Formats: sequence, structure tokens, C-alpha cells
Amino acid sequence: MISKELLEILACPDCKGDVKEKDKKILCLQCGRSYPIRDDIPVMLIEESTLPTFLSPLSPLSPLSPLSPLSPLSAPLPTNV
Ligand SMILES: [Zn+2]
Repeated sequence: MISKELLEILACPDCKGDVKEKDKKILCLQCGRSYPIRDDIPVMLIEESTLPTFLSPLSPLSPLSPLSPLSPLSAPLPTNV
């Protein structure tokens, strides 16, 4: 358990936002990063933090297929020459 006094002086090293303790982690209220707590000591390092899942660049939904059948290049050319 992290003391309130400690939480009040802690700030997110990434965005300087306020943090709170949640699920045995330190959660930034501003950018949503969560920082681990080891031996009751918050590890306030960006390298140790985890981003919220909705901002993850590793989302399996993000890569778009380049072979989309709706490509505008496949539309017929205008014939009014
Ligand atoms: Zn932050």
C-alpha cells in the first residue's frame, strides 16, 4: 500500500500528470500509463510502464490489408474522351 502523501508527490514521468494507486500499480490519470510497484516502492520509469491497451501500437486490428477489394484504383476509367 502506497501512502497518500507519497502518491501526492509522485507524478507521471511522461506527461507529469497526477497518479493514483490501482490494482497494485501506479496509474497515471492523464495519459493512462501504469507503473509497477516493487516492494512497496513505485517504479516511476517510462521504460517500466505499460500503456493502456487501446493505445497499444501492437494491436492486431491495426494493420490494413493492401489488397482491399474496395481500392479506388480498381474503378473503371471514365470514357468521355
Ligand atoms: Zn502520464
